Amino acid sequence: MSQSQRLRILGVPIDAYTFEMWLARVEAWVNEDSGLHPICTVNPEFVMIAQQRTDFYNVLQKADICLADGAGILLAAKWLGQALPERVTGTDSLPKLAALAAEKGWRLFFLGAGPGVAEAAAEKLRAAYPKVQITVNSGNPTPNEAEAIIEDINRSGANILLVAYGAPTQDLWIDRYREQLPNIKMAMGVGGAFDFVAGIVPRAPQWMRKLYLEWLFRLIRQPRRWKRMLRLPLFVVTVLRFRHEPTPRLAKTIHPLTPTPQSSEGENHREIR
Ligand code: UDP
Repeated sequence: MSQSQRLRILGVPIDAYTFEMWLARVEAWVNEDSGLHPICTVNPEFVMIAQQRTDFYNVLQKADICLADGAGILLAAKWLGQALPERVTGTDSLPKLAALAAEKGWRLFFLGAGPGVAEAAAEKLRAAYPKVQITVNSGNPTPNEAEAIIEDINRSGANILLVAYGAPTQDLWIDRYREQLPNIKMAMGVGGAFDFVAGIVPRAPQWMRKLYLEWLFRLIRQPRRWKRMLRLPLFVVTVLRFRHEPTPRLAKTIHPLTPTPQSSEGENHREIR
């Protein structure tokens, strides 16, 4: 398996993957017996939340792949003198995964999102790829629902799990329950991807995405996001301020950072600092 390059933005790992490279990894995992591989779709909000939450920071360190989901991540990498090949978003991954799943006979499981949203996304994908097998559960991330959700996932025979609870909840959920999901080979948090694929929330036009303005489009369409979007200017300022330091982390952490396993990192990634 070819190595990818791994860089860090404010201590958060980002892997230089193209869609093609990461789908090839997924295929290898589905055909191996190497357990559940968590994937995170990192955007600037993830990086800033990780500065304040040790649990989320550690989950990002443990992920097998941290994809560059947000355009701000590509910009920040540029400022740090690094190059990332392309944005690999959770939203754009869905049809690609569905196409492969239909071809290879993989089973997908969609967890979370608002009532009917994941089902509507599954319907759209079934219309485009009639052979795709998708099970849906729009249950909540509350611990008292976990047992029933886990049973549903295991009963479905799914080997790919996509979770839409927003960050950091989705990634923490996967980390917390991964040992109880023996059939899942790849689990990924997908944020608002089901809303986009279902057509419930419109995606920013291509020209806005090219100009790194997707955040503005989302803010106009969903003004209630303004508060969380304050993290974006903070991200810019922080990255520029600390760009000459190796792995700064600003958190006033309550607990010291716990060591994280290095095995998968050593195997698949080459570090750039
Ligand atoms: N969501 C959910 N349960 C929760 C919190 C969020 O199902 O307790 C869903 C929400 O309905 C949306 C998805 O999580 O479909 C992602 O939300 P958000 O827009 O915050 O994610 P982003 O794309 O910004 O990461």
